[in-house]
Amino acid sequence: EPVIEFKGVTKRYGAKTAVDAVTFAVRPGRVTGFLGPNGAGKSTSLRVLLGLDHATSGEALIAGKRYRDLTFPLRTVGALLDGAGPVPDRRGADHLAWIARSNRIPRSRVGEVLEAVGLTDAARQRTGRYSLGMRQRLGIATALLGDPEVLILDEPVNGLDPDGIRWIRSFLRGYAGRGRTVLLSSHLMTEMADTADDVVVIANGRIVADGALADITEGH
Ligand code: ADP
Ligand code: ADP
Repeated sequence: EPVIEFKGVTKRYGAKTAVDAVTFAVRPGRVTGFLGPNGAGKSTSLRVLLGLDHATSGEALIAGKRYRDLTFPLRTVGALLDGAGPVPDRRGADHLAWIARSNRIPRSRVGEVLEAVGLTDAARQRTGRYSLGMRQRLGIATALLGDPEVLILDEPVNGLDPDGIRWIRSFLRGYAGRGRTVLLSSHLMTEMADTADDVVVIANGRIVADGALADITEGH
């Protein structure tokens, strides 16, 4: 039973077809990499999946439902999108508490997610003083607030230093190791090594390969 399903998703912006009949499924308990060069259609696909953009045709489902039909969206799926934008300059813990409150998530989750991403010591610092890596962790903490079954990350390691990249990699492996599902996009095949179990490759809006990482990399 797939956790995420793209069924013939097409997205056009005027004459431009950003995503063309994209079809693939993501299995639970695995890290799936969504790989493709810049402009291939990764963000557009993820935006459609998360209900932030309307498909021109086709549909994308999470746990069998469109995002807008999920009963508890943040408890089903957490997302960190590329260009999620700056967070307001607040203390890290206050930022998370505000999001928890506006989504009816118990405040006790704030300490748990801060701990999960290693920001406990920085919880009282203002986010305006966070490094890029710390902001990225705060974004992941936000996505984790609802303790979601599915975690979706768009280019999560962009701009991070090697320590930050290693941290995200081991965090994602651990998350999937607890039976959760991770879908992460990247334009770099090297990021998939040691991270992804499965890879879906997109180019010019079309899926060109889909399978276990070992099978996809064979012969490359
Ligand atoms: P990726 O995430 O793989 O870099 P995107 O999904 O951002 O790719 O973009 C896919 C294609 O759709 C690109 O050619 C991009 O320029 C185009 N595109 C994305 N968003 C828009 C938009 N709002 N209006 C017009 N074209 C867009
Ligand atoms: P409000 O209506 O008060 O703006 P929202 O529910 O729209 O509240 O979102 C509050 C915050 O939660 C925003 O910062 C948004 O980016 C974040 N958010 C919403 N959905 C998700 C999600 N699935 N994963 C991670 N963060 C999310």
